[in-house]
Amino acid sequence: MRIAFYSTKPYDKVWFEPLGREYGFDIHFIEAACNEETVFMAKGYDAICIFVNDHVSAQMIDQLYEMKVKAILLRSAGFNHVDVKAAEDKMVVLRVPGYSPDAVAEFAMALLLTVNRLTHKAYNRTREFNMSLNGLMGMDLFEKTAGVIGTGKIGQSMIRILNGFQMRVLCYDPYPVKGLEAEYVPLEDIFKYSDVISLHCPLTTETRHLINRDTIAAMKKGVYLVNTSRGALIDTDALIDGALEGKFGGVGLDVYEEEEGVFYEDRSGDIIADDNLARLMTLPNVLVTSHMGFFTREAMQAIAKTTLENAYALENGLPMVNQVGREMAL
Ligand code: NAD
Repeated sequence: MRIAFYSTKPYDKVWFEPLGREYGFDIHFIEAACNEETVFMAKGYDAICIFVNDHVSAQMIDQLYEMKVKAILLRSAGFNHVDVKAAEDKMVVLRVPGYSPDAVAEFAMALLLTVNRLTHKAYNRTREFNMSLNGLMGMDLFEKTAGVIGTGKIGQSMIRILNGFQMRVLCYDPYPVKGLEAEYVPLEDIFKYSDVISLHCPLTTETRHLINRDTIAAMKKGVYLVNTSRGALIDTDALIDGALEGKFGGVGLDVYEEEEGVFYEDRSGDIIADDNLARLMTLPNVLVTSHMGFFTREAMQAIAKTTLENAYALENGLPMVNQVGREMAL
């Protein structure tokens, strides 16, 4: 199988190159993201392999189909960046569900602890021998209330972590699961009672701007909000207005609505034209990271393994257990 591998970073090659060789795949590593301008590079390949900030529209699917590309191999759990419906009769879309839910949940907790206890500021201060504590006061998490939205693999891992901090955990999911150490409540109650809210649901038409002016207004003053899921779960304009009004104790964002083309790139020498992103960076209680919740050795290894297992299943007519669409219908 010949695979056009878009958005390649050096750390991708570490795992994909040796494993790809073992499978006998011919992987062509391309640095460019997959978009309307670069889709032509897939000509002559059986599959494209893409990450979260590559996107594949219906029109691109038609182009890929004409080029006889048979599969879109996602190196991610989320698949909101591909027009799955348009792909339905033309090619398979295979994803990597739950490669390391703990990696993302642990990172969500890292964001929460950072924006709460301000270790990132303390680090900078002490390096300059500024040992003052002014402005560094945080909040105990012990016995506070946490709200988890989305109780899939990552949400469940987050619940376990929050329980470790002996927090009272409320959760919401349209498809509840049994046996969690958390109490399912209506979504309104998550907003009303939580001191900390962590988002772990996928981006769908239903969840887009789940965090908006109304839901922010319904939250407690001083609430901590963490988003490691997808940027567009939050209406950024509303978030910024809420932050300016002093609504949040802290906000940790690993994802951002308009992250495509910015996250994963070194843009330190560029003038950033995105006013919202620039504004977020100026808010002292907002921490933005570059969609890195997944980024552990274990997760990267698991992503490479499952992505290539998916390709192997396709090539050899084996059951494609990670096919988007089919697995969703199960
Ligand atoms: P999952 O499919 O196991 O769980 C998602 C859960 O969300 C499911 O239980 C589902 O029922 C629930 N859900 C669906 N609609 C909902 C709604 N309207 N309100 C509340 N819950 C809803 O997925 P997962 O592996 O736990 O991943 C969750 C999300 O995390 C992914 O969709 C992806 O966007 C994001 N993610 C981020 C990173 C990162 O690096 N930051 C890495 C992996 C995944």
